[in-house]
Amino acid sequence: MRGGPLRLIAIAGGVMMGGIMTLSFATSVSIQAFQAVLEAKKRKTAPPCAVCEGRGLMDCRLCHGNSIIKWMPPTGQATSVPCLCPTCDGKRVQRCLNCAGRGYA
Ligand SMILES: [Zn+2]
Ligand SMILES: [Zn+2]
Repeated sequence: MRGGPLRLIAIAGGVMMGGIMTLSFATSVSIQAFQAVLEAKKRKTAPPCAVCEGRGLMDCRLCHGNSIIKWMPPTGQATSVPCLCPTCDGKRVQRCLNCAGRGYA
């Protein structure tokens, strides 16, 4: 039979490749699950973030909770223009920098 062994090798190679890909996929999934479990444990045991008191949010650093900043246009004009804070979009709060918004450190 011509090309028989070659075809077999190709099939075997394909199966192996598929197996490796499935394995790496399964590994990454199990690592993610493992990290999720670790994260959940940490959430239960870790003390709440001292900066945001566990809220995960803190007063916006840029506008200091005013939602408006005085913006100096780069046109050379001496007057400053009030505009919506670009950091918090006027929400007055931003994600806590200490705990990255998780609420615990
Ligand atoms: Zn702001
Ligand atoms: Zn925090």
